[in-house]
Amino acid sequence: MSFCIAVDGPAGAGKSTIAKKVAGKMNLVYVDTGAMYRAMAYYLITQHTDLDNPEAISANCRKAQIRIAYENGEQIVLLNGENVNPYLRIEEVGKAASVTSANGSVRVRLVELQQQMAEHTDLIMDGRDIGTCVLPKAQLKIYLTASSRVRALRRYNELTAKGEACDLDVIEADIIDRDYRDMNREISPLKQAEDAVLIDTSDMTIEEVVEYIISLAEARK
Ligand code: C5P
Repeated sequence: MSFCIAVDGPAGAGKSTIAKKVAGKMNLVYVDTGAMYRAMAYYLITQHTDLDNPEAISANCRKAQIRIAYENGEQIVLLNGENVNPYLRIEEVGKAASVTSANGSVRVRLVELQQQMAEHTDLIMDGRDIGTCVLPKAQLKIYLTASSRVRALRRYNELTAKGEACDLDVIEADIIDRDYRDMNREISPLKQAEDAVLIDTSDMTIEEVVEYIISLAEARK
C-alpha cells in the first residue's frame, strides 16, 4: 500500500510551499489538487461558461480532460493536452475555481483522478477535502491554517515582490470570501478531519512546520 500524507486548509495557509518541501525531503510525489480545480475553472472561463449556471458547468466540464505530469519534479497540469500552468495563478482563475469547485460533476471527475494517483504512489496531496474525502485512509492528515490577516499578508508580499500593485484589505476580504464558500458548500466542504493534526502556522516559520510534519510522518511509517 502506498504512503500518503493529506494536507488540507484554507487559502494561503502555506499548504503548497510546505507540502513541496516535505515531498522533497521525504522523496514523495507532491500533488497540488487546487491546480486541478484551477485548470477546470480556466477551461470553463475559456468556454464562456455561465458560472452562475450549475447545469452549464456540469455540461462543459465533461469536455475537459485534465492530466498531471511531472517535469523536473514540477507538477504540470495538462488541459486537453496543453500545459496550462502559466494561467493557473491568475486571481480571476482562483476566484472562479472556488465557485466551480462546488459543482458535483467537477468534483467527481477530479477526485477520481486524485484517488487513482494515490493508489500506487507515495505522495503528499494538498487541497480542501483530501483527509475527509479523497484519501480517508491517509497515514497522516494535517489541517494547516493561519489567521486571515497573516494569510493576506503572505499573498500581499508575494504580489508586491513580483511588482504587482495590490491592496492588503482587498486581499484579506477575498480570502475571507473564498474561505466562506469553501467551508459552506454542500459537497465536500473544507473542514478538519477528525483524525487530522491541526497546525496553526501564524507564528511558525516554514522550516518549523516542515520539520514538525516530517517528525509526525516518520512516526507513522
Ligand atoms: O488551493 P487553491 O487556492 O489552488 O485552490 C483553488 C480552489 O479550488 C479553492 O478555493 C477551492 O475552492 C478549490 N479546491 C477544492 N478542493 C480541493 C482543492 C481546491 O475545492 N481539494
